[in-house]
Amino acid sequence: MRPAKHVIISSGVALIIYGWLHSWLCAFSCLITGVLIDIDHAFDYFFTHKRIPLNFKELDNFCQYDIYGKISLIFHSYELVIALWIVYSFFNIEALLGIAVGATVHLLCDLIANPFKFRSYLLLYRHYHKYERKKFYVDGFFEDKK
Ligand SMILES: [Zn+2]
Repeated sequence: MRPAKHVIISSGVALIIYGWLHSWLCAFSCLITGVLIDIDHAFDYFFTHKRIPLNFKELDNFCQYDIYGKISLIFHSYELVIALWIVYSFFNIEALLGIAVGATVHLLCDLIANPFKFRSYLLLYRHYHKYERKKFYVDGFFEDKK
């Protein structure tokens, strides 16, 4: 999903959280997490090109069109979301609730919007396939590219 859509959706969820809990900290941490999870795309760019992207367009092209490379996307994972909810359940801190909600909403939006298999958001699955991006797309994705 495009970053602007994550900003819009995360802002809406943050407003709902604020209306529900009246916690700016929880709402703000939800908004920030819901948007900044995509920072792992920059990490993948760095490990692929051995440098930081010079601008957003360069990073965006990498995310959109470099479909044969490797991606780890360490923050886009069910494991992370589950771990965040477990940590929140132990500490019961509002900021942790916002982070868990933000990460969950981000992952759900990407699940719906991106052409990846459901299991591709399992970090263990990506590791098993040696992070080869082409393994993660839905069936038939590459037939459209021919
Ligand atoms: Zn994402």
